[in-house]
Amino acid sequence: MNDNIKKAKRHVNQNEGLIFEKSSPGKRAFELPPLDVPKAEPSNALGAHHRREGVEGFPEVSEIEVIRHFTRLSTWNHAIDLGMYPLGSCTMKYNPRVNEFVARLEGIATEHPYQPQELSQGCLKILRLLEKCLLEITGMDAITLQPAAGAQGELTGLLLIRAYLQKQGNPRKRVLIPDSAHGTNPATAVIAGYEVENIKSNEHGQMDIENLQKLVTEDVAALMITNPSTLGIYEQNLPEIAQILHAKGALLYMDGANMNALAGITRPGDLGADVMHLNLHKTFSTPHGGGGPGAGPVAMKKVLERFRPVPILVEKEGGRLALEPVRPDSIGRVKAFSSNFGVLVRALAYILAYGPGVRQATEDAVLNANYIRRHLEGVYDLPYSLPSMHEVVFSDALQKKNGVNTMDIAKRLIDYGFHPYTTAFPLIVPGALMIEPTESESREECDLFIGAMKAIADEAARQPEIVKTAPHTTRVRRLDEVGAARKPVLRWKPAAQRSTAQTSGARD
Ligand SMILES: *Cc1c(COP(=O)(O)O)cnc(C)c1O
Repeated sequence: MNDNIKKAKRHVNQNEGLIFEKSSPGKRAFELPPLDVPKAEPSNALGAHHRREGVEGFPEVSEIEVIRHFTRLSTWNHAIDLGMYPLGSCTMKYNPRVNEFVARLEGIATEHPYQPQELSQGCLKILRLLEKCLLEITGMDAITLQPAAGAQGELTGLLLIRAYLQKQGNPRKRVLIPDSAHGTNPATAVIAGYEVENIKSNEHGQMDIENLQKLVTEDVAALMITNPSTLGIYEQNLPEIAQILHAKGALLYMDGANMNALAGITRPGDLGADVMHLNLHKTFSTPHGGGGPGAGPVAMKKVLERFRPVPILVEKEGGRLALEPVRPDSIGRVKAFSSNFGVLVRALAYILAYGPGVRQATEDAVLNANYIRRHLEGVYDLPYSLPSMHEVVFSDALQKKNGVNTMDIAKRLIDYGFHPYTTAFPLIVPGALMIEPTESESREECDLFIGAMKAIADEAARQPEIVKTAPHTTRVRRLDEVGAARKPVLRWKPAAQRSTAQTSGARD
């Protein structure tokens, strides 16, 4: 094992408790001097019964205890600002500070969706410019910026397809979805009222065209295809697939969450896709994770435009912009107000900072993934051999022989200072290791990652126990993930009130 590549650092040795446990009665963040004027009675306007005197069980701590508590907690987690975050499919790229700077500009940060539209022209211009950029990048005709996530974009897209088919008299019954699609796709199709038909990929991870030809009948509404697929592989037959669908009156939905592998190089609209969503919080570098805000704009061809969700951003005479609330054929509203505006501002800042260089970001992302692939091929099993796009999917087949699985390897990576890759997804690769470095990483950082992965493969061969019992350098060891899902403890209670089920799993 090469010691140079070890990145694991000793953590600050503290096991931070819950803030409730630090509480002691009467502690305050600050205290004012005693009153030297008469105490005002509870305001008459408010009424005494509206005033809360206290909150039961509310922690009472000093200011420095609050600050230290949350600062310490913040050091427990991994972040892209600390190091590489190769979580495949999630695209954890660096969020440039210029995005944050722009989003915090006073005129932007203090806008309110209820203010008159004459006073919001600047914000509406931001939306308009972002629409134009995304239409240029996708090669589509129309767009809605409203959906708040990729999955909500999928639902919006399928509702557009449904409305379009309904208008022709029959919404149809089935949606076809390849086994290399993202897991949200089948869920979306079902919520939109369709039956899902799963299609097996061929041995190269590509759509089997002959099989597709047989499956597309007059009761198929659409095919939902993730491109690049969750194998990180480019679907090579998109134009042919679109033709087969269009011949039977069905539409092609492209899951474009992985557009960071295509942006600036090819355009789904030119390849025959009728509708697609983008994940701005992946491809265009806005912060995500932990349920934070996102944005999943849906771009579409002309035939779907009239069904777009309201309100619609329109250009009036003299270049004035307005959000129009009523359109007769619209599928309705999908989001309060008009969008997650703050996310859209950040995405536009990222795009404009790159300009035509968006292509460079794509090329660097693909280069990084292939660099890692070349160095780890043979060390880890590579189940699909077509060129990788923005991510590479290995399997744990070689390490399994010594009883080491993808989760063990992922946990061991934490000891080397990296966030784990995505484990056990996509489902068509048993024991998958899904690695996405993004364009953010330098060659030096990729080399450190490769070194760590090689060292772990070596450990798996010689001392598998080390890997199977990892992580070793974290403040808490391996968590009971099944227990956390089956018996979640969502609310703190004083020890005396806890049931035994809660005490056993509450803090480990
Ligand atoms: C992340 C992702 C989604 C879902 O996006 P959310 O914003 O998490 O809802 C859908 N499809 C693909 C391919 C993805 O990678």
